Amino acid sequence: SGTFDGLTVAISGGASGIGAAAADAFAARGANIAVLDLNANPDHWSQTCDVSDDHQVRQAVAAVAAHFGGIDVLVNNAGIGAVGTVEENSDKQWFRVLDVNVLGMVRLARACLPHLRESSAPAIVNTSSIAATAGLVKRALYSASKGAVHSLTMAMAADHVAEGIRVNCVEPGTADTPWVQRLLDQAEDPAAERARLEARQPTGRLVSAEEVAAAIVYLADPSNKALTGTALAVDGGMSGL
Ligand code: NAD
Repeated sequence: SGTFDGLTVAISGGASGIGAAAADAFAARGANIAVLDLNANPDHWSQTCDVSDDHQVRQAVAAVAAHFGGIDVLVNNAGIGAVGTVEENSDKQWFRVLDVNVLGMVRLARACLPHLRESSAPAIVNTSSIAATAGLVKRALYSASKGAVHSLTMAMAADHVAEGIRVNCVEPGTADTPWVQRLLDQAEDPAAERARLEARQPTGRLVSAEEVAAAIVYLADPSNKALTGTALAVDGGMSGL
């Protein structure tokens, strides 16, 4: 505890699941938390913001910087899902998901970078996914969006390493969040679908939101100065075994 004393962490998608767990984890280590989400997180200072709207992103980031006096860490975590093959998703669906999952992170990074440059411990952590590389069935659009997040992370790490801004991403396996619960609820047999998802991971269980949050905190930790341009899998061995 205390690692993030006096530092301000802005977390997109911080009202639910992985982002909410990250907000709790950073707060436990002394950080000021700014949640940027369509919804407020009642436990943390929040700004309502749709990451697909550049104006809202700029306003929200300005509000965070004004309230806390700066921004040290950006956790780019807001994202939406999409199910389908390339034949099943329309251009409109592609533009929407790429707008939120990829451009949403670009917009927030653009708005936050001037503030990160003023920080003594600047870092960006993006939430990619195992889908970036795993080849999951009926996830063409979602996987492409998360592959783009992976590539964006590496390119941004290169662009900003000279100014001391570290950029990394986490690549969670299936994590037990409200998102996954919504997917399960839509399945014909939710219990069987949960069992299928659990069996897909070598550990035989889903990853918890807290486990992904711990990896996000680790990547953002100012003492981990050598970590930049890294994709950290938190997937119960799914990608490595
Ligand atoms: P979640 O649905 O529980 O939370 C996502 C949050 O993002 C919600 O609070 C939602 O309001 C917010 N959000 C969505 N669209 C937004 C927008 N346009 N502007 C601002 N906020 C918006 O989902 P989660 O499972 O916690 O997922 C968080 C991130 O983790 C996502 O990027 C997701 O792709 C990624 N991820 C999740 C899993 C998983 O299995 N749950 C696995 C790998 C990666």
